[in-house]
Amino acid sequence: MTTQLAQTPMPDTAPHPDAPVRQSLLGLSPADLEAQIVAAGLPKFRARQLWRWVWRHGLTNFDEMSDLGKTVRAQFSEMFHADRPVVTRRLQSSDGTIKWLLRFPDGTEAETVYIPDRERGTLCISSQIGCTLTCSFCHTGTQKLVRNLSTAEICGQVMLAMDELGDWPAGKPNRRLTNIVLMGMGEPLFNYENVAAAMRIIMSGEGVGLSRRRITLSTSGVVPEIKRAGEELGVNLAISLHAVRDELRDELVPINRKYPLAALIDACRNYPGLSNARRITWEYVMLDGVNDSDEDCRELLALIKGIPSKLNLIPFNPWPGSPYKCSGPERIEAFARKVLKAGYASPVRTPRGQDIMAACGQLKSASERQRRQKTGVAG
Ligand code: SAH
Ligand code: SF4
Repeated sequence: MTTQLAQTPMPDTAPHPDAPVRQSLLGLSPADLEAQIVAAGLPKFRARQLWRWVWRHGLTNFDEMSDLGKTVRAQFSEMFHADRPVVTRRLQSSDGTIKWLLRFPDGTEAETVYIPDRERGTLCISSQIGCTLTCSFCHTGTQKLVRNLSTAEICGQVMLAMDELGDWPAGKPNRRLTNIVLMGMGEPLFNYENVAAAMRIIMSGEGVGLSRRRITLSTSGVVPEIKRAGEELGVNLAISLHAVRDELRDELVPINRKYPLAALIDACRNYPGLSNARRITWEYVMLDGVNDSDEDCRELLALIKGIPSKLNLIPFNPWPGSPYKCSGPERIEAFARKVLKAGYASPVRTPRGQDIMAACGQLKSASERQRRQKTGVAG
């Protein structure tokens, strides 16, 4: 791929410290919004009007909400805002991938990546700042600061991408954002409540209206929450498997010590709504000499036998100081051939946006390094 780095500098637009505290509309469900509006002495239908302007039309400016009177607009603008996260860096790859580095008011940063493909456009969103888990091949797991993203911060990533992609009004033909994957920073099932609330808002037919079939939640294997996500949200499930023996998985994906493979596979086998049309995606990062042997492949196929499955072989994306190497192309091919022979289609994930460090956690780290260099702090 040719490397064409197009980077747009972004102004710092943090709100003034004395600005009145207004609530973000991006974190309110229709019922929450209605309750607040009724509590403010306004009729219920105002909630429906406001909801459509925000979620159907993507408006952030109350003055553009043409069916609201001047007094109501003023009242709303004192109570609420629909601000997006602040973009501190925007990188566009020569393959069309766009990556935004976002900053939240407390100074923390997260990443969102848009990956266009022939017949779909996928937005990869973050669910936490950093991650409490410490998978040994994942750079996010080495970042110290960790907190959950709020519902508004999760939805804010989708809204920002829709603004930038020109996707309003929601649901228009030829929209560019067609799918969402929760595969950015963080473990979504450790932030279940906020992730679930955000996905319900994004799925709401009165708003963005994205179908649950177009949303995929990726988890390292928080077994007790898997069933709940299936029953309550019905989104697609992806599992970061990466190893097929407990001993190795304990090392690569340490949550395995708490929820070992047998329990994980059992939860997946029983995932609600599973069928040939709705399969589990197994993510398997290819690590040279670690998990990529023919024997690993055989055990992998035996492990998932009978579960409607898709396999996703991910070439390992190295980061500075990472203890692994990506398997060679022949090894990946040989592994993929065996997977194909067993009846699973197109399993190797093509790396996208490599010229803009589109892999999990990399842009954030690069920007931290740059800042440290500027301020003279070693790291
Ligand atoms: N915490 C969740 C979702 C975020 S990670 C999870 O672990 O599933 C999204 C995917 O990227 C996971 O499958 C993860 O294992 C994979 N991943 C993380 N670091 C990687 C790297 N350096 N190279 C390739 N894949 C990586
Ligand atoms: Fe966290 Fe997922 Fe990275 Fe593991 S792979 S450290 S669960 S973000």
